[in-house]
Amino acid sequence: METAICPNTPKCPIFNGILEGTQYTSTYKRLYCEAGKAGREKCMRYKVATAVGKCPPKVLPNSTKSMEEIISDMRAAGEI
Ligand code: SF4
Repeated sequence: METAICPNTPKCPIFNGILEGTQYTSTYKRLYCEAGKAGREKCMRYKVATAVGKCPPKVLPNSTKSMEEIISDMRAAGEI
């Protein structure tokens, strides 16, 4: 059965409120984290983490950077 909540929530800074205080946190949760498979599959954090096993904390679900750019940046920074 499909899980409504993203499986990455335990470690995700968006879901865990590290970004709390920003006006977007609850919107992100509604649109991505708690919106089932279709929701998280639109999330850039989820896509990057699925591809390489982790995602930099500053990447937002609706990042304007492409997945390839983010992964390239991670490689350049020695994070992967
Ligand atoms: S921001 Fe993305 S990766 Fe993080 S919990 Fe929400 S859907 Fe999952």
